[in-house]
Amino acid sequence: MTHADFRALHLRGMSRDFGLLNALKGVDLTVERGEFIALLGPSGCGKSTALNCLAGLLPLTAGSIWLDDKRIDRLGPEDRGFGMVFQNYALFPHMNVRRNIGFGLRMQRRVKAEIDAKVEEAIRLVRLGAQAEKLPGQISGGQQQRVAIARAIVVEPPLVLMDEPLSNLDAKLRLEMRAEIRRIHNLLGCATIYVTHDQDEALSLADRIVVLRDGQVRQIGTPEVLYARPAHADVAEFMGYRNVLPARAMRDGGIVRVSVGQATFAGTLVDDVNDGPALAAIRPEDLTPRDGGPLAANVRTAEYRGRDFYGVAVTADGTELFFRAEHRVATGETLHLGADASRVLVYAA
Ligand code: ATP
Repeated sequence: MTHADFRALHLRGMSRDFGLLNALKGVDLTVERGEFIALLGPSGCGKSTALNCLAGLLPLTAGSIWLDDKRIDRLGPEDRGFGMVFQNYALFPHMNVRRNIGFGLRMQRRVKAEIDAKVEEAIRLVRLGAQAEKLPGQISGGQQQRVAIARAIVVEPPLVLMDEPLSNLDAKLRLEMRAEIRRIHNLLGCATIYVTHDQDEALSLADRIVVLRDGQVRQIGTPEVLYARPAHADVAEFMGYRNVLPARAMRDGGIVRVSVGQATFAGTLVDDVNDGPALAAIRPEDLTPRDGGPLAANVRTAEYRGRDFYGVAVTADGTELFFRAEHRVATGETLHLGADASRVLVYAA
């Protein structure tokens, strides 16, 4: 299967209002051919609006979309020719798998021999050979998802748009289909834009993650950067730094010391922070009981997660801390928690 020949998709100030609500505010992004981009953000941040604008289902209120040097934001969905995979699959219930997959090619009035060959190839690609003659109601959710993917890619689109495609599948199947989606993306060599609110999904699938909040891009980066060095405290919180603690920063040469309540410990500056109010962000897995741990806190709850225990402990001044322990801890027990300086990210307050 070949892919449409383009170099990059450009979003320039892409904006969409709903009445007085600015659902998307000037999104700038360049997606290279071959890239897998995850659009990540909390509910209501504008992910689906962005995808619908790209697909041509929603007009922009400002800005533009370009495929190389061709402006496409005033073209209808059919003329953009992007592949779309939705949460609810949107398969035709009365058509068998083969006919569902061939639908786009029939709409394009391709000749029968070409349609048959391309559908066969797509069926092989998503491994549905044994299901080709069945109706959607006769196959599993994961298989229906594969049909939706095959139908989207069979027309060889330059761009495949996916809106939370795995959210209706159980946990095990979700993991399998994740790997499957990435495998198919790699084979096709087109670009994929994948909307999700699930950080793990974004981290495991994407070449780059675009974090949206309130219709604005907060950060664009590789999974490694988003995981280890979120650029803002709110992005850190969204990426799993559940402890975002009001702190005071004191710069000391190359390092920074932070005080949280009575406790003082070393951290890593992310922002250009001055001495004074700051925020210290720490992942639960990095905040552990240790000798001389500066944060004394009483265990409120702890649960076993297979390898470690994760829990909540409360300091004397009432601050809740999310921690990890390698050994069982008891409710009411006092822990001395700490984290390595490289795992304490310090942001301007
Ligand atoms: P979710 O993860 O919950 O699907 P999202 O990030 O996809 O959320 P959008 O669906 O893009 O968010 O919505 C962004 C904002 O625009 C929200 O405040 C939403 O209420 C609003 N919105 C979306 N569609 C419409 C519409 N047709 N009319 C009015 N407001 C809308």
